Amino acid sequence: MTTFTHEQIQLILDENCCHECEGMGVDGVCVKIEAIAELPSRFGDFHIVAFSNNKDNKEHVAIIKGEIFDSEDVPVRLHSECLTGDVIGSLRCDCRDQLEAALKKIGEMDKGIVLYLRQEGRGIGLTNKVRAYSLQDQGLDTVEANLALGFRDDERDYAVAAHMLHSLKVRSIRLMTNNPKKISQLEQYGVKVNERIPHILPSNEHNRFYLETKAAKSGHMIDFHGKEHLPEQSDAPIIEGMPEDQIKSIYD
Ligand SMILES: [Zn+2]
Ligand SMILES: [Zn+2]
Repeated sequence: MTTFTHEQIQLILDENCCHECEGMGVDGVCVKIEAIAELPSRFGDFHIVAFSNNKDNKEHVAIIKGEIFDSEDVPVRLHSECLTGDVIGSLRCDCRDQLEAALKKIGEMDKGIVLYLRQEGRGIGLTNKVRAYSLQDQGLDTVEANLALGFRDDERDYAVAAHMLHSLKVRSIRLMTNNPKKISQLEQYGVKVNERIPHILPSNEHNRFYLETKAAKSGHMIDFHGKEHLPEQSDAPIIEGMPEDQIKSIYD
């Protein structure tokens, strides 16, 4: 179990209570920590940190393990909310596999953080995501579905994530990602990234299509119903046993 004392938690809450700044990113989002509690889970013993922000009512969350305050080299994973995948176990995306792998890995480490960012459907919300799924069901291609899915400027997420890391007083991180570009984008908001940890998912019956099909153009994959698979998390998955050339082609 993480060993925060009640005094440490109170200190953080007191500091955040009056926090106000110009915010980060184009939207000037400022977040503050509202509450912290223990969160034992099937993936390990964590604390959960709830944030509010000055722009909308999205309650972003940090799942933290171990001593991360004022800490260096903290393993961090950014996860974008996906109700259909994370909660319901939808196989239209691999969000749940990605989230579970991150929680499991960090649960086994001394310390680490999963930032759970409330930006369902790449920020356009659940209803629009379902609309995009519906368009795909009707045979529209991924370009049209992607447009409906509102491919957004990624900066906003990284800005919120960066502010959350600053609020948590994290000095430097090791980012769990398969996308090296993400590092420079976080660094742009003042996060010190000392290392990249590849995010490798265990292979299972649900992600076998990634192993059986070559990564298609523009990072899309064909799923086992023969449909192109829309990437909902900001980096493509690497599955245990995936051949080198396939891993390479994801970002080429
Ligand atoms: Zn702020
Ligand atoms: Zn998803």
